[in-house]
Amino acid sequence: MMEVQEVPKKFPKPRKPESESQNFQHVKILDCNQPVCRVICECWHCKQGILSEVDVSTSQYLEVECPSCGKTAVRLMAEKVISTTPIPSPWQG
Ligand SMILES: [Zn+2]
Repeated sequence: MMEVQEVPKKFPKPRKPESESQNFQHVKILDCNQPVCRVICECWHCKQGILSEVDVSTSQYLEVECPSCGKTAVRLMAEKVISTTPIPSPWQG
């Protein structure tokens, strides 16, 4: 006879702010009830602050190119990117 023992596995995961900041991207959406909304974010790659105006009349997978490093700064659901302006990141110093 095998004895089956149930072990509760509901341990709360310890929060690690260091790893969180590495995997989390700052994105702030303004005027989200308008056809054109403004997105403030940081580039995923170089952390350049970006202010982007996006047409959100339809939702499709869209990549915003970073004006600083040229890589994909952020991925959004929007029709098209109207403008991308580099700004000082609101989340840095
Ligand atoms: Zn960048």
